[in-house]
Amino acid sequence: MTTASPLQYVAKPARPNPAAAPAEGARWSVAEIEALFALPFLDLMFRAQEVHRAHFTAGEVQRSTLLSIKTGGCSEDCGYCSQSARYHTGLERERLMPLEEVLERARAAKDNGSTRFCMGAAWRSPKEKDLAAVIEMVREVKKLGLETCVTLGMLDAEQAKLLAAAGLDYYNHNVDTAPERYAEIVTTHTLQDRLDTIEKVREAGINVCSGGIVGMGEDQTGRAGLIAQLANLTPPPESVSINKLIPFPGTPLADGGELDPFDFVRTIAVARITMPESFVRMSAGREQMSDELQALCFMAGANSIFYGERLLTADNAEAGDDLRLFERLGLVSI
Ligand code: SAM
Ligand code: SF4
Repeated sequence: MTTASPLQYVAKPARPNPAAAPAEGARWSVAEIEALFALPFLDLMFRAQEVHRAHFTAGEVQRSTLLSIKTGGCSEDCGYCSQSARYHTGLERERLMPLEEVLERARAAKDNGSTRFCMGAAWRSPKEKDLAAVIEMVREVKKLGLETCVTLGMLDAEQAKLLAAAGLDYYNHNVDTAPERYAEIVTTHTLQDRLDTIEKVREAGINVCSGGIVGMGEDQTGRAGLIAQLANLTPPPESVSINKLIPFPGTPLADGGELDPFDFVRTIAVARITMPESFVRMSAGREQMSDELQALCFMAGANSIFYGERLLTADNAEAGDDLRLFERLGLVSI
């Protein structure tokens, strides 16, 4: 039996009409990605598996730990975020965590099998003094033998260079939703601001981690628009974070929107097919997912998870449950 090569899928006549052709310079049109979403579930999963196995060792899953090093009190108005100072979410603000405490958490993450340590701060962008402290954290965490990732908001070129010089491996900056929808969700900065930061991070030689949130009331076209803008970055992010909205009381998206769990799996599969060489991470919202749903996400090509009890301000899946799930599914941590 012959099967289509996963890479041929892009080139074969999957474009339903000329209007679906990608814009100049873009590798994927929204319509092409919608066509992937519209495939029968089993066909989509099969294609995602093909692509996954052509680029990664099946069953290997990278584990990252995420720590909030500065919590709450953020000036921005991202409609999903419990850390915005504009919403009454009951979250207690915390100052920047001292270096020693960060290192204690990093050592524990390493002992628990994480290979990457991600540090998140609720800032629009870091001030000079704060960046100096984070740079120290990056240097010290690296000395423990962990990969480092930080998410600090918007950066200018100089800040990106300073982080690169400290040896930072990844910078996370999510595009969060389809371009058409961004201004509905956030008004205090623009999508272009986010894209500019991603470009500066790239130019500084740091790997990019970027992704978005699904379940914010978008339709399948909205999810296709999100994936298209990630897949059309040049190159696509090395690490793609797919979050499921955690609706926080007090935020404008507290009532979020319904999301069929299979549409979450479809989003992972479409990310895998369109970004074959990227790590695709199941991020926020995993705590609410059954083991069976997570297994489908791994089949769809997810090969990275956040591991540990907390995800910035939200609970995460229990580490012990994750280990049992890895064992039950024969997954190997890398
Ligand atoms: N201030 C920095 C920034 O915005 O990039 C870093 C922290 S911010 C909390 C990091 C990411 O967490 C957001 O871009 C978003 O994708 C995700 N996130 C925040 N709140 C979320 C929620 N309620 N549900 C799902 N994902 C969320
Ligand atoms: Fe601030 Fe980041 Fe939350 Fe937006 S997502 S409010 S920038 S912490």
